[in-house]
Amino acid sequence: MVLPDIPYKITHRAVHYPRLEFKTGELVLILPFGLSPDKLMEKHSKWIKEKFNFIAECIEDASEKRIPDRTIHEFKELVLRFMKKASKNLHKVPHKVHFRKMKTKWASMSSKKKLTINILMQYLPNNLIEYVIFHEIAHLIVKKHNEVFWKIVSQRFKNYKKLEKELFSFWFLITRMAKQN
Ligand SMILES: [Zn+2]
Repeated sequence: MVLPDIPYKITHRAVHYPRLEFKTGELVLILPFGLSPDKLMEKHSKWIKEKFNFIAECIEDASEKRIPDRTIHEFKELVLRFMKKASKNLHKVPHKVHFRKMKTKWASMSSKKKLTINILMQYLPNNLIEYVIFHEIAHLIVKKHNEVFWKIVSQRFKNYKKLEKELFSFWFLITRMAKQN
């Protein structure tokens, strides 16, 4: 199988389907236990190829991105502003907001309605910060990434697919930067 030239590691885990993780700028292909990596790669070649091509594109796009210059205070103000806006729009309010560094995601919403924001979002452009917050608050209506969920998101962000891709490019850029510092 010909894959774009992206360095990656293979690891095995108790999963049913292959998965890709992209933590600190390093790509990890997670394969289920059982068959040999070659057999598994062959079996899931279509999925793996598609994912790798997507990542290769994102890495290429990342070179053109600029990281905004804002203080942590400015960032937190911005988050609160976008939260208010999204809450008003979706009629849902998180119980708590929490800022911390996360290694695998931009933000998350717990079942107790606690919104956790990755402080690395400080380096995202405004429109992506707004999108991530809207996305998380939309999870107060629908938990999963199903059709209904994306329908809600697309009412405000028609171009959510493009934004998700841009987020991936920034993830690559920012986690690599964070690793160096
Ligand atoms: Zn989500």
